Amino acid sequence: MTQIIPIPLKWSNAYLIKGERPVLVDTGSPNDTAGLLRAFQKAKIAPSDLALIVHTHGHHDHCGCTWEMKKLSKAPTAIHQMDRPMLQSGRNGRLIPTRFSAWLMKSVFEKERYKGLNATIIIKDEMRLDKFGIPAMLIFTPGHTVGSISIVTDAGEAVVGDLLMGGYLGGQLLKHRPRYHYYAYDLTVIHWSLKKLMRHNPQRLYVGHGGPLEAKTIINRFKKDIDF
Ligand SMILES: [Zn+2]
Ligand SMILES: [Zn+2]
Repeated sequence: MTQIIPIPLKWSNAYLIKGERPVLVDTGSPNDTAGLLRAFQKAKIAPSDLALIVHTHGHHDHCGCTWEMKKLSKAPTAIHQMDRPMLQSGRNGRLIPTRFSAWLMKSVFEKERYKGLNATIIIKDEMRLDKFGIPAMLIFTPGHTVGSISIVTDAGEAVVGDLLMGGYLGGQLLKHRPRYHYYAYDLTVIHWSLKKLMRHNPQRLYVGHGGPLEAKTIINRFKKDIDF
C-alpha cells in the first residue's frame, strides 16, 4: 500500500509517496529546501531514505530544490526526456497562458531560474515504480509542458503536477475545484492526457497548486470538452 503525503511549499505542492521506500515527487521552488526537510522530519523520513526524486515537469516551482535534495539524499533523479532540457538549464522557457490573468505574470515566470542538473533517469514513456518501492505507474501526460508526467498508484491515487490545478489565487481559494492551470502549450493535449489518465481510474488527484481533486468532480467539470 502507498500513502501520499502533500508538502505545501511557498508556491507549489511537492509530494512524498510512501511505499516500501519513499519517493519524492517534485522539489518546490528555489529556497524551499527547509520546508521540504521539515516535512521529511514530520513524516520520520531521512533524505537518505529516498529511493527516487521524480519530476512531474521541468518548471522552477517543481525542480527548484532538486540540486540540494540530490546532494542531501544521493537519490537518483528522473524527468521525462522532453522536459530534460529545462532541468539541465534550470529555465522555464516559453509559457503559453490559458487565460488573461496569466498573461500578466508570463514575463516574470519566463525569467525564473533554478540550479539545474543532469537527471539520472530519462523517462521515455511509461514506467513502473516498483523497483523504487512504490506500486505505481508513471505515465506520459503532456499539455502543460511537452514532457509532463503523472504517477498513478495501484491504490487508485495520482500525482499529476500541473496537468490541472485546484481553485483560484494559486490554489488558495476553493482549492478542491478543478481548473486548467494558468499555462498550457495546448489544451487539446491536456484533454488527451486527462482522458488517458482517467483510464487508469484514479479516485483522487494531487496537483501542483491547490487540490486534491476528486475524480468525479473532474469528470463533471470537463465532460463537455472531453469524451471520458
Ligand atoms: Zn508548471
Ligand atoms: Zn507549478
